[in-house]
Amino acid sequence: MDLKNSTFKVITNEGAKCRFCNKILNPIGLDYLYVNYDKNMLEYERCDCEKSIQFWKDFDLRKEEKQRQEKYKKIINNIYKNNYMKKRLQKCNFENFSSTYKGEKIINQLIKFTDLCIKSEMQNGIIIYGNIGYKKTYLGACIANKMIEQNKIVLMEKSSSIIATIKESFTNEGLSEIEVIDLYSNVDMLIIDDLGNESLSKWALEKLYKIISNRYDNDLPIVITTRYNKEQLIEQLSNENNIEIAEEIVEILNEMCYGIVLEEKEKVSISNQTKC
Ligand SMILES: [Zn+2]
Repeated sequence: MDLKNSTFKVITNEGAKCRFCNKILNPIGLDYLYVNYDKNMLEYERCDCEKSIQFWKDFDLRKEEKQRQEKYKKIINNIYKNNYMKKRLQKCNFENFSSTYKGEKIINQLIKFTDLCIKSEMQNGIIIYGNIGYKKTYLGACIANKMIEQNKIVLMEKSSSIIATIKESFTNEGLSEIEVIDLYSNVDMLIIDDLGNESLSKWALEKLYKIISNRYDNDLPIVITTRYNKEQLIEQLSNENNIEIAEEIVEILNEMCYGIVLEEKEKVSISNQTKC
């Protein structure tokens, strides 16, 4: 480059200083710095002092985590929009619901639960049990939407669509199976709607168990809606060769969840014991 005729003016061949030990750091990929060069575009070599190494280690971890979150968010938005949370459910909220629903106590409990989930202070889950037409899905969607409003990552799906997403990972270029399971295991909230309404293979139940037990180990909440009690749920989930894993799923849900029973359309009770 002919520096004399260049519109760029050479200002220095020195870089920035290490903020920890003051060592001069050279810009990466540039022999000289130019006045017109946007400083934000510059990247400097990393110092090898102890404090700097620790700083960059944390920096890289945060960056990696952010990238992971963004990747997840993209995939989640896709699931959210295309798969299950239809427009109808996206409008569900506690405020609309409570104006038409007399089960004020249950609404308040669920709002309290959701607020604690938003603050990441809730490690237990909730099983919302009630018959068809008892607004289980609506209440699940209220929890989802309230959390999403606060920028929490929430997945609300039927068990079969979780399994379908895992299967898609075999063919798509997106997440791998491990990453999909990791995603369901680590989102701020997972809501499985209408559990027991679909029979699943042993393989699928094992994946579901893995996700639920990961959330249990990670102290992350879960919400289950179902119209089956404990025994019925085992029966619904299993067939001859997968009864054990179905039992394990129901057991772990019992351990990690409170039960909310929608007994009648306008009369509800809350128990500290699971009634899934
Ligand atoms: Zn240094």
